[in-house]
Formats: sequence, structure tokens, C-alpha cells
Amino acid sequence: MRTLQIPFGRLAVLFVALTLSARAVEIPEPTVEPKKVEAVSGKAPSDAIVLFDGKDLSQFVDAKGEPAKWEVKNGVATVNGTGDIYTMQSFGDCQLHVEWATPTKIVGEGQGRGNSGVFLQSKYENQVLDSYTNKTKFHGQASAVYKQTAPLVNASRKPGEWQIYDIIYHAPRFDDKGKVTTSARVTVLHNGVLVQNNTEIKGSTSFTGDVHYEKHGAKEPLKLQDHHNPVRYRNIWIREL
Ligand code: MG
Repeated sequence: MRTLQIPFGRLAVLFVALTLSARAVEIPEPTVEPKKVEAVSGKAPSDAIVLFDGKDLSQFVDAKGEPAKWEVKNGVATVNGTGDIYTMQSFGDCQLHVEWATPTKIVGEGQGRGNSGVFLQSKYENQVLDSYTNKTKFHGQASAVYKQTAPLVNASRKPGEWQIYDIIYHAPRFDDKGKVTTSARVTVLHNGVLVQNNTEIKGSTSFTGDVHYEKHGAKEPLKLQDHHNPVRYRNIWIREL
């Protein structure tokens, strides 16, 4: 009778390989206790930077660096044709909460209906638009990475109703020569529904579709767009990551 002869050396290698592949990963127990954050429903978390709480736009300036001139009334800031507004503070990786509403009375169509935008680092637009029954290019509707990536689903509410963006953003990284080494990424919940899932941002968003990265600071202001439609904002806060 023939027996299978396997050299001892090979057996040893096989044994070691099997042992290593079966070994569980050792996870050390965390030694730092997670910081306590008060998270009261409807309010900014206690460790958030409140950018707009309904009182004034003192955290924002216009493109010239002068105080933002959007109308503030009854706890709401409304786009009024005085131009884009920018946070005075700059941000990189962040969690951002923005509540917005397009006009109740429908005026215009496509990109001209309730258009505004949340520009991360002033360069990467998460589109704000009345997209309830408004046909437009899919990568231009609400919660699209403008002209790059359409939302996974359309979670839009009716015109005039308050809507919520919860955004998790990772800024791009650049090398010394200005070349992007890591693209920006964004995750967006629109009214609690996942619409951008760790989406790669391919460069600054633009109407012309000329998408490319240009080196910028690790932190840049957040911009809200004045697209000449009276879109309203309230309850804006951000947490740096
Ligand atoms: Mg826009």
C-alpha cells in the first residue's frame, strides 16, 4: 500500500500558515473615555459650534468680508440677493447640520426653483433646490454633489417645508506641489435618509463642469449660496472632526 509522503518542512509551513490565519485579532481595550456630549433633541450638540441660531448672522460675512446682509426675521435667515455668505471661521473635516426651506410659492423651474447651496470649504457644493416635483438634471437636484453625483434617492419635502441636511465631510489632502493626494469625501443624510454615501468629490463643483482640484487651506470657510431665490435657513451648526 502506498502512503502520501509530505516532507516535514512543508508540513511545518502549512501548520504555521493555518495557525496564523485562524488567530483572532487582539483588540486592546480603549483607555480614553468618550467625552460626554449633551444631545438634546432639536438643539445643537453641546460641543458644536453654532453658526446660526436664529438671532443674527454675526458668524457670517459677504464676499467682501463685510457683515452678511441676508434678512433675519423670526429666527430665519432668507437669501435676498445680497450675495453668497461665508463663515468667518474656517473648517476642514466636519459634521454639519443645516435646515433649509425653499419658497412655498413655486416660482421658476429646473435650476431656477428654490436654488441655493451648501458649499463645503467654499468649493464643493451640496445642492439646495426645490426637487419635490421639479425636473432637472439628476446631478443638479437637491443633495447632489453639484454636477458630479446625483443623490441615491430623492428625499425632498414639499416646497415651503423645512428640510434637513446632516453632512459628514472629509476635506481633500494636498502634497507640497499642490497635487491632491486624497480626494474629499462626503456623506449626506437628507431628512434622515442616506443620499450620499461616502461619495468621492472629484474636484471643485462648477456650472461649466470643469472639475479639478486646486490646492487650498486645510481649513476654509463654509459658504451658503445666493442664487437669487428666497431660500430660508435656520439652525446651522458644525462639529469639527
Ligand atoms: Mg445651488
